[in-house]
Amino acid sequence: MATTKMLRFVSVAQATPDKRAAPERREDFAEIYAGYAAAKAAEQASRCSQCGVPFCQVHCPLGNNIPDWLKLTAEGRLQEAYEVSSATNNMPEVCGRICPQDRLCEGNCVIEQSGHGTVTIGSVEKYITDTAWEMGWVTPVKPAHERTESVGIIGAGPAGLAAAEELRKLGFQVTVYDRYDRAGGLLVYGIPNFKLEKDIVARRTERLVQSGVAFVLNAGIGDSVTLAELRAKHDAVLIATGVYKARALEAPGVGLPGVFAAMRYLTASNRKGLGDAVPEFDDGTLDAAGKAVVVIGGGDTAMDCVRTAIRQGARSVTCLYRRDRENMPGSLREVANAEEEGVRFEWLAAPKAILGHDKVTGVRASRMRLGLPDASGRRAPEPVPDGDFDLPCDMAIEALGFDPEDLPAAFGAPELTVSKWGTIRCDIRTQMTALDGVFGAGDIVRGASLVVWAIKDGRDAAAQIALYVDAKARAAKLAAE
Ligand SMILES: Cc1cc2nc3c(=O)[nH]c(=O)nc-3n(C[C@H](O)[C@H](O)[C@H](O)COP(=O)(O)OP(=O)(O)OC[C@H]3O[C@@H](n4cnc5c(N)ncnc54)[C@H](O)[C@@H]3O)c2cc1C
Ligand code: SF4
Repeated sequence: MATTKMLRFVSVAQATPDKRAAPERREDFAEIYAGYAAAKAAEQASRCSQCGVPFCQVHCPLGNNIPDWLKLTAEGRLQEAYEVSSATNNMPEVCGRICPQDRLCEGNCVIEQSGHGTVTIGSVEKYITDTAWEMGWVTPVKPAHERTESVGIIGAGPAGLAAAEELRKLGFQVTVYDRYDRAGGLLVYGIPNFKLEKDIVARRTERLVQSGVAFVLNAGIGDSVTLAELRAKHDAVLIATGVYKARALEAPGVGLPGVFAAMRYLTASNRKGLGDAVPEFDDGTLDAAGKAVVVIGGGDTAMDCVRTAIRQGARSVTCLYRRDRENMPGSLREVANAEEEGVRFEWLAAPKAILGHDKVTGVRASRMRLGLPDASGRRAPEPVPDGDFDLPCDMAIEALGFDPEDLPAAFGAPELTVSKWGTIRCDIRTQMTALDGVFGAGDIVRGASLVVWAIKDGRDAAAQIALYVDAKARAAKLAAE
């Protein structure tokens, strides 16, 4: 049985594969590698200084008890480390892989700040939970008691999935609705496989199914089912639909064949990796192989596009960003990875026009410089006189960020109030929208953000929904007395 497997810690020196005596069989290599990973995790975990004020924990949006699980890992008590880690995070192995740790926990590690290199917190977190899955410690949720009340969740991204798990733990009947054919949201169709393997997400969804969560896929709320129907069916509803309206480039030539929105490009690549039929990829339209590619934008989505194009075998990949490296929104670690893989960055360069007649042949860009700070406090880029230059390309990808869709219109619910950015307004304390019993979580509330924040919002929303349903039940009981 998986749980009876022995965990073995060996020193790095013991575990490092010996080049002189290469393992003969694949299984030998797997065993040596597993030992190496265990030793590495223990070695990193033992570097934690257990400082009095854990800045790493303070800067983790989930407030993960990092020093505790690092100590347990260093002592070889992995199952306990898993229990502590999973108490505050519904997907530690996902966050361990894709959190921008340089901006969160690891960037605030005191060892990093004293110049000795951070404890690699994300890698240890990933290792603990990957091991937990392997050992059979990750089991379906079994609520202490079942409740009759039900909650409908719109959106099967990390916010919706985290809320579903927390609500199931409390015994609620949970149904998750999603317009896509697979659960996972951007974990499946946005973030590329080389950063987050899709089976890692699928096993989380499968565990929720085994925990009693119902999934209704290919169900766009506002199309096949209305919000009013969901409100009538469930005791509470959570909106966790993410943000998907791509910010469009405004320049001559943007409609030319060969110019694509980032999500169209990334979704095709992810679907291909999942084994789906993707005619637009197979006929070469969305395949970067052999092409000169220009990606416009400087966020994490742009980094995913450039690194995907490299993996597809692009002839050259250039990233065009209007500010400089220090002022880009994406993770600097991701930029370093991209540069190492051969991506060329054109900093301080803004697109001016897409060139070509019947298809894209290049991008005309203006050289920029950073001027005085604008109202937001950021130095505004402005064009350098006579600074235009052309970048020839066969494919151009727009990765300028995302805005929310018009949910009040899509849901036929004008009472659902939104901010000036189009994100849905929620009470800051209760996470309830302007509609009674309808809550919000994730990107659709805070704008395009991070997986770890979506998980945090989903967990908080679940707690608030439970309080709301209990309060309603108490009020109904009092009224009946
Ligand atoms: C390309 C890309 C790369 C990224 N990389 C990272 C990264 O490395 N690290 C990181 O932390 N974050 C990353 N992010 C951000 C992160 O993915 C999001 O912040 C996070 O997924 C938001 O979670 P969510 O649950 O709010 O929304 P989503 O993950 O977007 O999920 C929303 C779900 O709602 C469904 N939905 C929408 N409308 C409807 C409707 N009307 N009816 C039914 N279902 C609906 C969608 O189909 C989707 O499944 C990346 C984002 C992108 C686009
Ligand atoms: S969830 Fe993210 S920020 Fe928190 S400890 Fe894990 S990797 Fe760091």
